[in-house]
Amino acid sequence: MPSNPQRYPDNWYEIALSIKEQAQWCCRKCNMQCIRPGEDTSGFSKSERMAKTLTVHHANYTPEDNRTENLIPLCSACHLGYHTRKKSVRFVG
Ligand SMILES: [Zn+2]
Ligand SMILES: [Zn+2]
Repeated sequence: MPSNPQRYPDNWYEIALSIKEQAQWCCRKCNMQCIRPGEDTSGFSKSERMAKTLTVHHANYTPEDNRTENLIPLCSACHLGYHTRKKSVRFVG
């Protein structure tokens, strides 16, 4: 869940899903194949499932800006890396 969902549009789920599908559920940074919806994850531990969850990052850290070029599919580790390096910005986009 985003930390402040009110900044996201109502159709954020659909927007994010289309970005992930375009990326074929691979992280753009490390190329890891992430879990697709409906995929059998029973062989994964909880932390593996977390690690293999694809998220969508806002390149300019603005959740209201949902242009395709601003949206980057990233695995959770890479996504976290983008936000921890930019410490002044909270984990919102
Ligand atoms: Zn990654
Ligand atoms: Zn982000």
